[in-house]
Amino acid sequence: MFSKKWRLAFRIFCSILFALGALFTILFVAALCIQSSITMNVEEFQKEGNYSKETMMLFADVAFPYDRIRKWDEDIKVEIVYTDKLNESLILEIDSIIAILSPLIHPVKIYKVPENGNLKVYRKVDSIIESNGKEIATRGFCYIPPLIKTLSWDIKYAEVSDIWYCNCIFHEILHAIGLQHSLYPYPFYMNMSGTYIFDSYEEMEEKLYNPLYISEEEKLIIKMLYSPHIKSGLKKKKFLKLMNLNDYNR
Ligand SMILES: [Zn+2]
Repeated sequence: MFSKKWRLAFRIFCSILFALGALFTILFVAALCIQSSITMNVEEFQKEGNYSKETMMLFADVAFPYDRIRKWDEDIKVEIVYTDKLNESLILEIDSIIAILSPLIHPVKIYKVPENGNLKVYRKVDSIIESNGKEIATRGFCYIPPLIKTLSWDIKYAEVSDIWYCNCIFHEILHAIGLQHSLYPYPFYMNMSGTYIFDSYEEMEEKLYNPLYISEEEKLIIKMLYSPHIKSGLKKKKFLKLMNLNDYNR
């Protein structure tokens, strides 16, 4: 038989457990409501660029990883890891990428730091290993911590790498700022595009073999993503609806 004291303690324990459960449920439902209420001011957004239907469909294609906007809200501090093992040109390339992105992601700032970066760059690694220790068969990689760890659609940390025989760090950094691969083909070359037919060898040399090439279309998409009217967590479905568009507009 339990004594009165133990029964009371058990009741208090159950009450605390119930209260915590209720609190967690309320917070969870509140978080869901906040997430689903993320919207945008269409007029103000359109005032920035009077975007065409094609541009908005391209934006919908590459700027909604996991069907949501994910972007940085704080300064991006780029830290090149193991700098001493890299030759100068590999570091200069990162400086150039920072210079290219800087005006596009304004008002968010991007700059290099010697330590405590929130965008870590690993260049010319031998292999890319996942957190579970498995080697991934890829030439470059971008890791953004899953939502369950960050509990926010904002990107607050990322790691990018390229393998020693590949130069795809620009592509990986574009993932790190919130872009995904395009699903559809376009009549211009993009870093995030998988399919594009070059008209000539010269064009291929200029675009594919130039690790810092970026088209005007891709630049515009990044500018749109970092518009103050586009918020992290905004759903692609909602964006298309607000813009009176749908996937049949392609
Ligand atoms: Zn990729």
